[in-house]
This record gives sequence, C-alpha cells and structure tokens, in this order.
Amino acid sequence: MAILLAKLNYRVTVIEGNSQPGGLMRGYCREGLECPVGVHYMGSLGEGEPLRRMFDYLGVGSKIPVERMGRDGEIDRYLFNEKFSFSLPEGIDAFEESLRQAFPGEQRQISEVMAGLRDVAARMYRLDFLYAEDGPLFALQYADALEEWLQKRGCSPRLRGVLGVVTTLMGVTPEECPVFYHHMALVSLLFSAWRPACGSDRMVDAFVDRLQELGGELLTGDPVKKIRIREKAITGVVLKSGREVEAPLVVAAVHPRILLSLLSEEDVKPAYRERIMQLQDTAGVFAVNLAVDAVRHPPWPHNIYRLKTDATGWAREGAFYQLCRGNGDVNLLTLITGSSIGEWRRWEATKSGLRGNDYEEAKERKADAMIEEVFSTCGPFHGLKKLDVYTPLTLRDWRNCPEGSAYGVRRSTQQLLQLVTLQRPAAGGLYLAGQNAWAPGVIGTVLGSFQVLKQIVGVGRFQEELMRGSGIIPVSDQR
Ligand SMILES: Cc1cc2nc3c(=O)[nH]c(=O)nc-3n(C[C@H](O)[C@H](O)[C@H](O)COP(=O)(O)OP(=O)(O)OC[C@H]3O[C@@H](n4cnc5c(N)ncnc54)[C@H](O)[C@@H]3O)c2cc1C
Repeated sequence: MAILLAKLNYRVTVIEGNSQPGGLMRGYCREGLECPVGVHYMGSLGEGEPLRRMFDYLGVGSKIPVERMGRDGEIDRYLFNEKFSFSLPEGIDAFEESLRQAFPGEQRQISEVMAGLRDVAARMYRLDFLYAEDGPLFALQYADALEEWLQKRGCSPRLRGVLGVVTTLMGVTPEECPVFYHHMALVSLLFSAWRPACGSDRMVDAFVDRLQELGGELLTGDPVKKIRIREKAITGVVLKSGREVEAPLVVAAVHPRILLSLLSEEDVKPAYRERIMQLQDTAGVFAVNLAVDAVRHPPWPHNIYRLKTDATGWAREGAFYQLCRGNGDVNLLTLITGSSIGEWRRWEATKSGLRGNDYEEAKERKADAMIEEVFSTCGPFHGLKKLDVYTPLTLRDWRNCPEGSAYGVRRSTQQLLQLVTLQRPAAGGLYLAGQNAWAPGVIGTVLGSFQVLKQIVGVGRFQEELMRGSGIIPVSDQR
C-alpha cells in the first residue's frame, strides 16, 4: 500500500509498532534456521501471472528469492483419514485430469466445477475487478457457500472434501466460504505455487528497500496510539512515545477492532462501530518448527495436508506439513494446525515470554502430539529437534491482533454484507487495508491494496496511471 502511494508521489511514512517491519510476512530465526510465520507458499508468481504482475509493478518482483513448488507433479498432497489421498498438481488442465481420474463417476460434476474455475481464472488473469468502479471482489453467481454450491451440483462427499481443502487457507469452512474466494485461492495456486527460498525476511527487505528507494519513510518500535480527526477529517496520528505525525491521509493496515481502539468514541458513527464489533474472526493457529537431518530428509517440493474428514466429507481437523531447505546440516519441518484462543484462555492475560511453566508444558504436550502424528503419517524423522512452538496468543501479541486470529475477519457468506463496511472509508481520509480490507493471504492483501488505492485517488486517475502501460493488465486485455 505504501509503495503504491509513494509511486504516485505521495509522501509516505509507514509506522510499525514492532521493532522490525513485516508483520506476518516476517519470520524468526532459531539456531540459525529461518522459520516462516505467515508466508509458507503463494500462488501466481510465475512470469506474467497476476501476483507477479502486481509485484513487478511495485518493483519487488525480481527481488524476492522464491522456489517453485510442484516440480514432482504435486503442489499439495491431501491425505484423508489415511485411506484416500489426492495430489494437487500445477495447472488447471492437470487439475481437471487428476479430478477425472480420482472421481470417474463424477464427470458431469467435474465439468461444471471446472467451468466455474476457468471463468474465475480468466477474470483473475485479466485482473478484471481492478477495472470495476467499486471493484466487487465476487460476482453474484459465486456468492453462495462452496458446500451448498457443490451439493447443488451433486458432488460426492469425497469430491467436496478434495475441493474444500483450500478454504483452510482463508480460515473458513466450505459451509461458509463464498465460492468466489475459494475459486480465487485455488486458481491462484493452480497458476503456479512458490515458497520463499531463503526465508520470508528477504521478502520484507525487498518491500522496505523499494519503499525507501521511492522516498518513503519507515518508523519502527513506536505504535500508533491514536488517530486524530478534526471536523470529520484526518489530521494525523499520535504514537505511543507521544510523537505526533501530521497527515491528511491514514491507511490503517490493522485489524478493524484495533482501528476502532485508535479512534475516539465521537469520531465514528455508532452504526459503523457496532457493525465492526459484531464481525466474527477466523481462528488462530498452533505451529511447531523442527530441525531434521538434511541428508536423511531432503526438502519436499510439495506440502502435505493430513485431514480427518467427517460424514459430510469436510475435514474438520487436520494439519499442514512443510519440509524446507535449512542451513546445510538440517532442514526445517513445520507443522501447523488450527487452534482457537479458547484453548489458551487461561493465559489470556499474560504476555509472550512471561506466561509461566504450565503454559510451556501445555505447548509441549500439544507439540508432542503433533510430532507423533507426523511420524505416523510420514515415518520417523532423524535428528529431530524442536526449535519453537507458537500459539494464537503469540500471534495476538506479535502483531497486535485481537484473539490471535490468523486470517482476520471471517470471509463467510453470513458476513458478506457487513464486510462491505470495511471497504468504505471510516472517516474523511481514513482507510482500512491489509488482509481485513478485501481478502487474506499475500495475494488477497496485495489485491486489496490496489482497491484501496483506487478509492484514494479515484477511478479516473487509478485507471490512467495504473492500467495503461504499467504492465499490470496485459496489453491485449486493455479496454
Ligand atoms: C500461521 C500463518 C500462516 C500463513 N500462511 C500463509 C501462506 O502460506 N500464504 C499466504 O499467502 N498467506 C498466509 N497467511 C496469511 C497472511 O500471512 C496474511 O493474510 C497477511 O500476511 C496479512 O497481512 P497484514 O498486513 O494484513 O497483517 P499483519 O501481517 O498482521 O500486519 C499487521 C501489522 O500491523 C502492526 N500493528 C498493529 N497495530 C499497530 C499499531 N497500533 N501501530 C503500528 N503498527 C501496528 C503489527 O505489528 C503488524 O506488523 C498465513 C497466516 C498465518 C497466521
């Protein structure tokens, strides 16, 4: 968002509460190993693909070291109850072929699913919704919940189970995930899938370097305490240290309830406040990072999803496994599962590093159970060493996000109308960006930034400066 504004000659200051910038994009180092937090893989970064075109426009496309996934024919391997597995390949045609082979009795259903996916893929490739005046992120025919949509088409529980896995990347279930978000996430991976090659901090560096190159400033370690509004217009912010930064425009890339906490009661209409307070969040995650012997356990070119399905076919429980290149002697094995803050409520009032032994023991017990599961799924790992374990409380404190929610507000069919509130300025000159504005994930957050820019500069200037000749929209598709 900051780079986009700086490119249009705004004087931009990024204010980051933590001592280091990046939020979830930033990982952390344990025993010489870079452990990622919020970027394990991303879709559409191939030359000419949508995320790559947007990264190129920002000037970071070639600066982020990434590694292509799926070289062995699969991006993700879904293991259902150890009885059935499905490999997600790269490419829409390859995906169709895999579905047809795995579900020979559901050829008609697959044709219908693929027609929808291809339609959304074409819209995404053209970045269609960047043209639209208010940029609706979903078309009405895709506003239904995925589960209902697939059931209407007569898909079996198992086929629905396979198609539904991607909804976990947004922290929602197939029963509530609008088809459009699901298709966008799936299609984006099918274009091509990538993971940071040397830890995601290099990605943060690329963004920071580019911002500074454009004259943007970065202030760290001093969070915003208050957003100032006078006569319904933004005048600037006050930081924790008392420092004041004057600005006619503030873009808050934080959770909407954090945004509310930075505003005075009288600055926000009660209806706006109420709508935001009622929004439900996605759950948090519990993650374990482990070092394993690099010779015995070379990196996997794909991820593994271990899924426990119920009678509906939907995997209500599961875990994500990734084995990445480490520092030579050891590789990094990451295990992630969903976890609500309720599981950690006892320690809610504590701060990172000061939660006490019982918390450490609870973390260790849960981590050990996950390690046992990965052993039973993938066999024993040699030279295994626990590097770090984190919970939704860690995520809450690290990035100042209520309840440690992983993907922010729930992008559910039940909340679609209320979510529109987040896409409107909260006051004159005050905008919300980040994963809560439009969609979560790296691609959702970046796409959202372009939408917010459109609101700020107006459709005319946006189209004039960004659409033509910028490379974002392929020349053949320009209107
Ligand atoms: C465990 C996990 C794994 C994920 N894996 C993937 C993945 O593989 N691929 C993918 O595409 N997406 C993934 N995601 C989602 C993705 O990380 C997020 O959607 C995205 O990074 C959100 O970015 P953001 O800028 O909106 O929020 P954040 O990254 O949370 O950034 C918010 C920033 O605001 C700062 N802040 C908060 N309050 C203040 C204040 N008052 N003053 C100043 N600064 C403040 C915080 O310190 C933080 O740096 C994952 C998320 C999680 C939790």
